[in-house]
Amino acid sequence: MSQRNKSTVAVRHGIEADKHHGAVVPPLYLSTTYSFADFDTKRDYDYGRSGNPNRDILAEALAQLEGGEKGIITATGMAAVHLVTQLLNHDDTLVIPHDCYGGSYRLFTSLEKRGLLKLKVLDLTRADSLAQIAEIKPKLVWIETPSNPILRLTDIDAVVNAAHAVGALVGADNTFLSPALQNPISFGVDIVVHSTTKYINGHSDVVGGAVIAKTQELGDELAWWANNIGITGAPFDSYLTLRGLRTLKVRLKQHEENALAIAKYLEQSEYVRKVYYPGLESHPQHELAKKQQLGFGGMVSFDIAGGLEDAAAFLTTVKEFSLAESLGGVESLICHPATMTHAGMEPKARLEAGVGDTLIRISVGIEEVADLLADLEVAFAKTQPGKAPASADSKACKLTPAHPALW
Ligand SMILES: *Cc1c(COP(=O)(O)O)cnc(C)c1O
Repeated sequence: MSQRNKSTVAVRHGIEADKHHGAVVPPLYLSTTYSFADFDTKRDYDYGRSGNPNRDILAEALAQLEGGEKGIITATGMAAVHLVTQLLNHDDTLVIPHDCYGGSYRLFTSLEKRGLLKLKVLDLTRADSLAQIAEIKPKLVWIETPSNPILRLTDIDAVVNAAHAVGALVGADNTFLSPALQNPISFGVDIVVHSTTKYINGHSDVVGGAVIAKTQELGDELAWWANNIGITGAPFDSYLTLRGLRTLKVRLKQHEENALAIAKYLEQSEYVRKVYYPGLESHPQHELAKKQQLGFGGMVSFDIAGGLEDAAAFLTTVKEFSLAESLGGVESLICHPATMTHAGMEPKARLEAGVGDTLIRISVGIEEVADLLADLEVAFAKTQPGKAPASADSKACKLTPAHPALW
């Protein structure tokens, strides 16, 4: 069984496990409580917060896909991130990358403000940050690669070596690539976190999360905390997420094929200043991507020519891309990070992270790529980014965050 290929695990784990009726697809167990077999004799399950068959099938499948010993399914991706912080005491230091997911950044800094942990923010793509890890001697180093939204890569191997040399654990948020395209545990990472809301479920209809531990011991400690603080995922969410997981590999193949075609198209467009996609040879970390990733993923960002007005006009002219946050679903989404996903950041920090007014992020879906390319072509031709004279009311178009409190 452990010799199964990972794509077979994703398709078959839990299939034909039903002992009562031989249901091929595992049935949905909604019951919150389970009877004892006898006085003082528990069955496999007793209470729904502590354990549930649907949650367990999904957790086991994800643990096998990531190469870990134990998986824990949480209600949201943020619950998964929060769960990992339970490993830290108030005098332990957590090292985080300066460009990690905004919700994680907000959580870590809020916990620090309340004195629940110590925090050090570093640019983990810089070599001198590795030397700083040796000095800081943190309890946990957090990595997120590729980063959001400009897809910068962190050398997983290098960070793991620096962290392990001083006895630190390493946690990796693997949401952007999914276990189909990157397995941080194979580079020595101790804990992998996912927002299953994104590629793992893949259909933009379930919010969920997962934590996968390299060792049984670490997994048991995290599972104990998940039950203790009550953040385990709902059975029906696990059922749907497992259904999404079945097709992970074929979806990612198509996401990637479409993303590469779009990145190449954008790279030669006169209406585009710069494209960010690790699959392009022009990406400064293309070689690192080939070394540590099994593919380049489905996220593409670019700076459109012109200014904010050009970005706004383009974003509201495309038809096959929904103007929306989030990512990883089968349908293509497009967003303007400066006013949407990254609106809560201080303008200075936002610009330092490469998120300017002209940056556009695409979560490339699995539609027929010719339709996506044609739509981009029409939108560029109609809006003429960087070429059209500023319209009379263009001064009214100021950079106003849509909802700064949300990420
Ligand atoms: C979406 C996301 C999260 C948070 O997950 P939720 O399911 O929204 O709680 C964490 N990390 C990354 C990289 C994400 O994209």
